[in-house]
Amino acid sequence: MMNAMKIGVDLGGHTLTSALISYGGPKPRIEKIDKSDTPRSRSVKDIMEAIASAAERLSDGHEIDALGVAVPGMLNADRRRALRLPNFPVEWDDLDVLGAIESALASRGIRAPVGIENDANCYALGEGSAGEAVGISDFVTFTMGTGIGCGIVNGGKLLTGAHGMAGEGGHVVVRGDAPCGCGGKGHSETLAAADGTSARAVAKGLPEDFEKLWRMRGDPAADEVLDVTIDAMARTVATVCHLLDPEIVIIGGGMSKAEGIADAIKSKSTEYLSRPFKNLPDIRISRIGSDAALYGAANI
Ligand SMILES: [Zn+2]
Repeated sequence: MMNAMKIGVDLGGHTLTSALISYGGPKPRIEKIDKSDTPRSRSVKDIMEAIASAAERLSDGHEIDALGVAVPGMLNADRRRALRLPNFPVEWDDLDVLGAIESALASRGIRAPVGIENDANCYALGEGSAGEAVGISDFVTFTMGTGIGCGIVNGGKLLTGAHGMAGEGGHVVVRGDAPCGCGGKGHSETLAAADGTSARAVAKGLPEDFEKLWRMRGDPAADEVLDVTIDAMARTVATVCHLLDPEIVIIGGGMSKAEGIADAIKSKSTEYLSRPFKNLPDIRISRIGSDAALYGAANI
């Protein structure tokens, strides 16, 4: 029997990454990757065109069994429409994204079942199918970068909630009243993500770049900035552990490359955890990194 071939697409604000993934071995495998700049207009028409031409290049005339797109924003409960994509034009609001992808593909003769899912959720699905969480039914993923993305798999299923919005772990209320870009306040993301960390570092005359700053650990001024980042993430992890009792917590995203960050978050989270939970968090760094979103998108 031929291996199933699927395409996973990660629609980012700057880069559109697509992968042809084969299923048949013990784990899915990326056979080919196609990267292009996201059209600068970010218009529906230009992006649909870019997705269809990437799919055409990757499939190269062969049949595709499914295509899924990781979308940067909130989707409606039945995963057909976008509710709001924060960094994309308003024409995307309430758009039938699934229908638009299907017709863009059909215009190039590609007929395959299509799915869409929030990008942070795709990341979790990808860790479940090809990463740290293979065979694990209860886990949470965080991507620490410009923002804090989160995806939750509970009892083997992606947790989506009543309105499709579950798993917004970057917006856990941790401390203080600092306004968050989402419209709320006191959220994890404002303190733990790279943007907030950089802003606090720059205000003290320290490097803006997170990896540089992390390498300065031990310097009192740098520690003051980084302790806030780690503390906010530790509170987030503790809250999520109390709510969901995951077997593992996976941390990915650009900031996860800082050596020792998982251990720092783990030891701080212990202070916030209730006694029966104290030794439980198995916090791991993602090994497949940004490929997780591609594996997840292909497997929606
Ligand atoms: Zn928020």
